[in-house]
Amino acid sequence: MARVINGTRAFAAPSRYIQGRNELDHLLEYTGIYGKNVFAIIDYFFYDQLSAKFQAMYQNGEGDIKIERFEGQITAEKIARTTELASPFAPDVIVGIGGGKTVDTAKAVADDLHRPVIVVPTTASTDAPASSLSVIYTEEGVHNGTRHYHKNPDLVLLDTEILVHAPIRYLVAGMGDALATYVEARANMASDSANYIGRGYRRTLAGMAVAKACQETILSKGYQAKLAAEQGLCTPDVEDVIEANTLLSGLGFQNTGCAGAHALNAGFSNLSGQECGRMLHGEFVAFGTLVQLILEQRPEEEFDRMFRFFKQVGLPTTLAGLGIDRNNHEALYKVAEASIKSYWTVEPFFLDAQTVFDGILATDRKGQCYE
Ligand SMILES: [Zn+2]
Repeated sequence: MARVINGTRAFAAPSRYIQGRNELDHLLEYTGIYGKNVFAIIDYFFYDQLSAKFQAMYQNGEGDIKIERFEGQITAEKIARTTELASPFAPDVIVGIGGGKTVDTAKAVADDLHRPVIVVPTTASTDAPASSLSVIYTEEGVHNGTRHYHKNPDLVLLDTEILVHAPIRYLVAGMGDALATYVEARANMASDSANYIGRGYRRTLAGMAVAKACQETILSKGYQAKLAAEQGLCTPDVEDVIEANTLLSGLGFQNTGCAGAHALNAGFSNLSGQECGRMLHGEFVAFGTLVQLILEQRPEEEFDRMFRFFKQVGLPTTLAGLGIDRNNHEALYKVAEASIKSYWTVEPFFLDAQTVFDGILATDRKGQCYE
């Protein structure tokens, strides 16, 4: 995003955010706010278990639910097909339960039908659920554009009982995505770049405060949260980190903007399966955050805190951690080159692909010192 075009500030958020143990048991109550007819899209992994539960929940006539199973990619064709399926049912509200692609499909269908949307993420691995956009792919999994909506979800509903039973790697990757938020917000503030609310608005104090709270929560509680969540325990620390990964990070990035960490994630997505491991979004972003800190020449204490935390929770601090060979300079230059066309532009200083390439290798070397 470019520099702000005037002094106008803007802030956006979901209308409601509800997080707690077994909150999905109250779905009928939550959908009832919007009407009787509910169209739900459920990830294939939860489909059998949850569709039986919801059929029983809605059978007494207070509400009517139609459930569609989601599997595979989120494509423009699949969105159109799902909208066509939902339309004759005249839904009062759309519900999306699952990973990013399921939730993003629900947002798109709700937008096409001009209906409210409830999103229920089943992992705390990214900050996408609370945002007002969907990322679209081709059937082959190639990024095929982003759909921006005029509003955020009407309700973001998190059932922490489900979230603590997801593989721990998701919660940790979510911390990686969330730790980028303040680092990137600060770069956007330094260059007075626009946030993602509309036509070039400036960030609010609220946006920056949320981004800062996100970082503090994760650095201070992330490790205890990981230890508890990997036992399936839902302590207050786990609840705090889930909120930071989902709400604070989501509000933070949308209201302040992305920078180098997400630019590198875009760069890494150009690598083939042979050139890098099968990593999660938050794991690429985490390493990207370290590179951004190096190129911004941050104080040693800041690096040290970040590198130590990454090591403690199991986020990648080296290229080997991403399954990338540090001697594959051709691939790494490709990453740097692709990233330079992305969010690096908000940094308040000049950068070129060669400097980013050097930054990647310097970060990797520093990361080795923490092995
Ligand atoms: Zn992200």
